[in-house]
Amino acid sequence: MAMDDDLFEKLKILSDAAKYDVSCVSSGVERKNNTVGGIGNAPAAGICHAWSSDGRCISLLKILLTNDCIYDCKYCLNRVTNPIKRATFTPEEVAELTIQFYRRNYIEGLFLSSAVEKSPDHTMENIYRVLELLRYKYNFWGYVHVKIIPGASPLLVKKTGMLADRVSVNIELPTKESLSLLAPQKRVENILQPMSLIHNEIAGAIEDKRHFKNAMRFVPGGQSTQMIIGATPDTDKTILDLSQNLYDKFRMKRVFFSAYIPVMSSPNLPALSTMPPLLREHRLYQADWLMRFYYFNSSDLFTENEPNLDLEFDPKLMYALRNIDKYPIEINKASYEELLRIPGLGVTSAQRIIRERKNAQISYDSLKKMRTVLKRAKYFITVKGKYYGNVKLDPEAIKAQIRMKEIQRQISIFELL
Ligand code: SF4
Repeated sequence: MAMDDDLFEKLKILSDAAKYDVSCVSSGVERKNNTVGGIGNAPAAGICHAWSSDGRCISLLKILLTNDCIYDCKYCLNRVTNPIKRATFTPEEVAELTIQFYRRNYIEGLFLSSAVEKSPDHTMENIYRVLELLRYKYNFWGYVHVKIIPGASPLLVKKTGMLADRVSVNIELPTKESLSLLAPQKRVENILQPMSLIHNEIAGAIEDKRHFKNAMRFVPGGQSTQMIIGATPDTDKTILDLSQNLYDKFRMKRVFFSAYIPVMSSPNLPALSTMPPLLREHRLYQADWLMRFYYFNSSDLFTENEPNLDLEFDPKLMYALRNIDKYPIEINKASYEELLRIPGLGVTSAQRIIRERKNAQISYDSLKKMRTVLKRAKYFITVKGKYYGNVKLDPEAIKAQIRMKEIQRQISIFELL
C-alpha cells in the first residue's frame, strides 16, 4: 500500500498508543505475504485479533484517532502534561486506511479508540464521521468497534451506535474516589449515562426487530468496558462488585481488566519499579468467568476479611475450600448449578453428566470415560455415595495435597528436559 511518510508516522504513533486499550484483546501481529504473486505484508503496526460473538477470530486495525488529549489522567501516557509526540488522523484518513488494509486482506474490521481532543463532542463527532464514511461512502459493513467518549452528547452517542457493531465506554477506575485522585476531569455520571443510554437503545432495537423486519440496528455486538487494575488500592471485591453491577444493570458483554503498567511517575501512583499485577489480572478474569458462565455472584467470592482473590489458588477452588460444609457433592444427584461449583469441572463436563445421568447412574469409571478431569474434582465429590479424594475433607489437607501434586508435576516437566 502506498502510504506517505507522514501517514505512516501517524499510524506508528497511534497504533502504539492503542495497545493500552485491552477492550479488544491482543495486538501487534506481523504477517508476511507468502502467496505467489501476492502484494504487501501486514505490518505489525495496528493489527490485533478479537473474537466475534460466533467464536470466529477476526483481525482488526487497532488505532487511536488521536493521542492529543486535553485531559490529565495520571496513569496515561497521552495525558496533556506528558511531553510525547502527538498525532491526529482525520476521519477520512482512518476510513481510507481501513479500506486499503481490508482490500489487501490484512484486516477484517476496525477497532477505533481515541484520546479526548478539544472536547468530548468534537472527538465523538470525528469517530462518528469515520463510521459514516466507512458505511456510506465505502459501503463497508465489516466489524467496527468504537470508543464512546464520556461527556459526548447523547445524540452523537445514538448516531454512532446505529453504525457501530460494538462500542465501549471505559470506566477506567472502580470508585469515584479513585477517579478524582487519578483522572480528575472524568465524572462517574459522564461514564454511566452513555452506558445506560446504550443499554436502553439496544433493548429497544431488539424489541423493534421482533415486530419490524427492517428495524434499525443498534450496536448488535453489545457494549464492553475496561478497568485498570493496581493503579489504586481498590480491592478485588470492589472491582468485581462493580463488574457484577455492570453485567446486571447494563447487560455489559465484557468487563476487561488491564494490569496497570507503571509508565508515569506521580505521588498518587505505584512506583515506576512496580511490576504490573498480571497474576491478579488473571485471577480477576477467572472470577469474571465464574460470574458470567457459572452462576457465581461477586459476593460468593469474598469474605469480610478477605476482600482480595487468592493468588495461589483459583477463585473456584477457594470458594469450595471456604464453603467445605457444602461438599462433597453427589454427582448423581447434584443440580447443574451445583455441578458447576465443583472445582475442576467445567460447563461441558457438567452438561455431559446431566445428559448421561438420564440413562444410568454414573460411576467413577464412567466419569473417567467421559473424560471428566478429576484431578481436583475428586476432593469435592462423591460418586454413588463413595468419596474418592485420598485425603480427608479438610481445606488445609486438600490444599497440601494440591500443592504436593503441583510440585510433582513441575519435577516431571524438568525430568523431560
Ligand atoms: S482521557 Fe484517555 S487518553 Fe486522555 S489522558 Fe485520560 S486516559 Fe489518557
